[in-house]
Amino acid sequence: MTITGECFCGKVTYQIDGKLRDARSCHCSRCRKAFSAQASAYALVETDEFQWLSGEDQLTSYVGKHGFGLQFCSKCGSTLCGIFDEKIHGVTLGCVNGDPKIEIGKHIYVGSKASWEVMPKDVLQYEENAPKQD
Ligand SMILES: [Zn+2]
Ligand SMILES: [Zn+2]
Repeated sequence: MTITGECFCGKVTYQIDGKLRDARSCHCSRCRKAFSAQASAYALVETDEFQWLSGEDQLTSYVGKHGFGLQFCSKCGSTLCGIFDEKIHGVTLGCVNGDPKIEIGKHIYVGSKASWEVMPKDVLQYEENAPKQD
């Protein structure tokens, strides 16, 4: 399938020829800051299925200690994607257009959620990270 996404101002756009995987929402304090929200909403992509369509020159990056970073539109501030070792690692679900045929499968680090956040009932949630799947 083809999935497209764009930032709030529309300058930065991308296309994924493939599927999103492992959609998750992390409620830790770092993700709250990085996503300016109660939690992250993020899914993995295959690096070679992802391409920027426009505005790549508008992107600015913040890379943390461990090589994992995020890329933002420098005009409007939308967080568009995560990068690892300078390659696309995943996309923020908030910037995906339409229905990408995936739902958030798990909520992690709920033990450190913000005091003001009310968690929905009946979602798969973990106090910390989800156990590794074999
Ligand atoms: Zn923008
Ligand atoms: Zn987190």
